[in-house]
Amino acid sequence: VASSPAPPLAEDKFIVSVEVSLKPSSTARIEDVKLAVERMLEKRNLSYVDGPIDIPLGDAFLVDNVQRICVCDTEEWVGNHDILLFWQVKPLVHVFQLSEEGPSEDLDGDSQLSSFSEWTLPAKEFDGMWESLIYESGLKQRLLRYAASALLFTEKGVDPFLVSWNRIILLHGPPGTGKTSLCKALAQKLRYVLDLDTHILSWWKLMHIHCSVAKLFQKIQDMVEEENNLIFVLIDEVESLAAARKAALSGSEPSDSIRVVNALLTQMDKLKSSPNVIILTTSNITAAIDIAFVDRADIKAYVGPPTLQARYEILRSCLQELLRTGILSSSQDGDGVILQSYACLTDKLATATTENSQSHWNISKYLLEAAEACEGLSGRSLRKLPFLTHAALVDSQCHDPTKFLRTMINTITRERSEI
Ligand code: ADP
Repeated sequence: VASSPAPPLAEDKFIVSVEVSLKPSSTARIEDVKLAVERMLEKRNLSYVDGPIDIPLGDAFLVDNVQRICVCDTEEWVGNHDILLFWQVKPLVHVFQLSEEGPSEDLDGDSQLSSFSEWTLPAKEFDGMWESLIYESGLKQRLLRYAASALLFTEKGVDPFLVSWNRIILLHGPPGTGKTSLCKALAQKLRYVLDLDTHILSWWKLMHIHCSVAKLFQKIQDMVEEENNLIFVLIDEVESLAAARKAALSGSEPSDSIRVVNALLTQMDKLKSSPNVIILTTSNITAAIDIAFVDRADIKAYVGPPTLQARYEILRSCLQELLRTGILSSSQDGDGVILQSYACLTDKLATATTENSQSHWNISKYLLEAAEACEGLSGRSLRKLPFLTHAALVDSQCHDPTKFLRTMINTITRERSEI
């Protein structure tokens, strides 16, 4: 608490957004839910940190109607080490009904493979994804700010001849570092964030393109022509496009694919001129990528393997989930297992006291050791680790988190030797 920010004046509170997703079955009025959540927060008297908060079991209305309540973006105001006390905060509650439709897909006539999937935002599948992705601080905020500015320019009708912005985002980095997920989560997050001040856009869709087929663009173009639509186009692994183009230019590809690739690039150029499109692309190539449209990306962000802090927090969130579901428990610790945040742990280790020998510090220290052992593993591999560890245990219920973590460290060593 000593390091929390200086108390602001009463009328000058920190604004923190609180996202509330309704259960698909809920028929409650958004306004009523908003009021109920505001009242619940008033009574709550707990500090604000990013992440989900528990719905009080005694509040039948909220329990019946709400799927998840999540505190967001406190990091805007405080560093990693600090917390916001309840009286310093003015919560801004946004309530959303998640779309349960699931993706609609388009099957390619010849191959029967789906060429794209389309979601209405905010989609149930992406709920919680933004919070679950952990990167060095600033990356997610940078992308969010960029995309929000791009949409604001569109909304305000900025003349693209005077100020140019392309609305293309490129995330590149090794496989499994969360690029595709980050694109999806970003689209969903924008839906939440921008709901505040823009009511012009009524339909938000995410189209995930699986393979590069020019005819898709016709469909996108049709959707884009509706001014009330906002379309995110997600193209994974754009390098395949680059490779096809290079092969086409060198004459080693059949002329069919030359046509496809050229059509695609032309279509992308056409799309770019529509203000209600954001093109999200990912690439697994870590070196510089050199293709025509990628050069025009406004923002290129390198998404690398998770840092020690991110690895620790990813594993911590995995363990917390195992504790929540009862797969992992502690027989000795009556109060339940406490997994310290990375910031608390490193602070504590720096000021070693006898208190450090308490069992929950030990567990956190083992967790740190596991996170250290995972250097170089992708986020995707990290999220699989607890499962592999569990599969390596003899019992299906583990009552000793320290033992679980020791097994995890062995599993990491084994995984690494099998890469
Ligand atoms: P990419 O597109 O880079 O290959 P994905 O988006 O398919 O990666 O990532 C796969 C999964 O790995 C994600 O859904 C997520 O569960 C996990 N993951 C990867 N990186 C991270 C990270 N930095 N923080 C949290 N989870 C991550």
